[in-house]
Amino acid sequence: MIKGNFPIEKFKNIETPFYYYDVELLNKTLDLVKKCSTEHNAIVHYAVKANANKKVLSLIAKSGLGADCVSGNEVQAAINAGFPADKIVFAGVGKTDKEINLALDNDIFCFNAESFPELEVINELAKAKGKTANVELRVNPNIDAHTHKKITTGLNENKFGFNMEDLQSACQFIDKASNLKLIGLHFHIGSQITDLNAYESLCVRINELQEEFDSWGIKIENINVGGGLGINYEHPNHIPIADFESYFRVFAKHLKLRDGQRLHCEPGRSLVAQCGSLITKVTYVKKGVNKQFAIVDAGMTDLIRPALYDAYHRIENISSDLEVEKYDVVGPICESSDVFDKDVELNKTQRGDYLAIRSAGAYGEIMASNYNLRRLPLGYLSTEL
Ligand SMILES: *Cc1c(COP(=O)(O)O)cnc(C)c1O
Repeated sequence: MIKGNFPIEKFKNIETPFYYYDVELLNKTLDLVKKCSTEHNAIVHYAVKANANKKVLSLIAKSGLGADCVSGNEVQAAINAGFPADKIVFAGVGKTDKEINLALDNDIFCFNAESFPELEVINELAKAKGKTANVELRVNPNIDAHTHKKITTGLNENKFGFNMEDLQSACQFIDKASNLKLIGLHFHIGSQITDLNAYESLCVRINELQEEFDSWGIKIENINVGGGLGINYEHPNHIPIADFESYFRVFAKHLKLRDGQRLHCEPGRSLVAQCGSLITKVTYVKKGVNKQFAIVDAGMTDLIRPALYDAYHRIENISSDLEVEKYDVVGPICESSDVFDKDVELNKTQRGDYLAIRSAGAYGEIMASNYNLRRLPLGYLSTEL
């Protein structure tokens, strides 16, 4: 079996389960993104919600990217990690007054606004501070990203963004508002998008909208195409880095930017998923009638994606080189959905073996909970072990 490289000797001093982040892979990924975005004159904002581990955040901040935040605490975490405020964007349908004030106080780059009442509140709060808030309108482009129904965001039935019919009046609203400035349009059509045709459709839609904006005589400085680029969960060893070259090429080829317009994007998963693994120890191997179970010390409280989205993660026994057998890999939580995967081929597994649940760097550690009064998993960088 092909497996990742793990310093298993060093794991013996660490309480399991824990997240292990391969810094070399993270840096390689960041280098590629920087190379491609520089070539295409694009600005990249890391979507903090994918992984807000302080050590991971500060590595990403050091690489020079901006940050895309969806809560006040994320804005604060991004600033604490060293992201420059003028590269922070703030999205979300339910920004509270407290969160908006925090963002205003820090002079972030812009608010990605999602509704009329939100525009009204941002304007009032900015006025009270004697500031002008930059806003991008988040547009719901009604595009099917062909991804899991719980992570698609760009359809009319979703709660996100302005409908296209409301854009002209949203522009008029901003124009009349004393303390708002329209600086861009924002889109985000979904997550774990592996078919780049979805982005091509987005480009076509943006091109249509731009013609309307031209006809209204409204100039837009920034086009933010959001995040969503998928990664290869099946083959993390063969395909450890997402295809950023093709991703940026789609926009270069299909998106008709106006003079001086700047492309922005907000990758989350594609930057951090592959560098992270959840490391767990086998507590028991239990023989069923037709099955055997590897009962591990990690559960859905540590990595909820399989239970929440039926997500697949490759699992490797990194302690054993014995012949391969099949196991259902399950956690200890009192929920029948606490199953990482069924009929997993693992090298013959014994109590005490370490398993690596791969591609878990995004929406893993950050979604952990205390359910069953479990301790939250800690995250370690490869460079600190
Ligand atoms: C979640 C999110 C992203 C990042 O999505 P990924 O699929 O992790 O790349 C980007 N922008 C917005 C507005 C988001 O909500």
